[in-house]
Amino acid sequence: MRRYEQGSFFLEIEPRRCKGCGVCVQSCPQGVLTLNSEGKVEATEIARCVFCGICEQRCPDFAISVHKERILQPSLV
Ligand code: SF4
Ligand code: SF4
Repeated sequence: MRRYEQGSFFLEIEPRRCKGCGVCVQSCPQGVLTLNSEGKVEATEIARCVFCGICEQRCPDFAISVHKERILQPSLV
């Protein structure tokens, strides 16, 4: 599992599930995703991601998940 963070939001990609179909790459409105030399998707431009969720919705193999919830930090007190 690979995690790509932008602040406290993040994408997770499971390369073992990715079959390299390219549907997510073509669907992303921001040009965030690319296929690497192994035919697996990577979030190479995570700074441009708007966490719209389209990639997660379109992937037929549930290889991408979009997480907009904030990660709660334990109190430092
Ligand atoms: S849509 Fe899913 S299976 Fe297809 S390239 Fe993207 S992550 Fe991989
Ligand atoms: S959440 Fe939206 S902007 Fe971000 S990688 Fe997926 S389709 Fe692209």
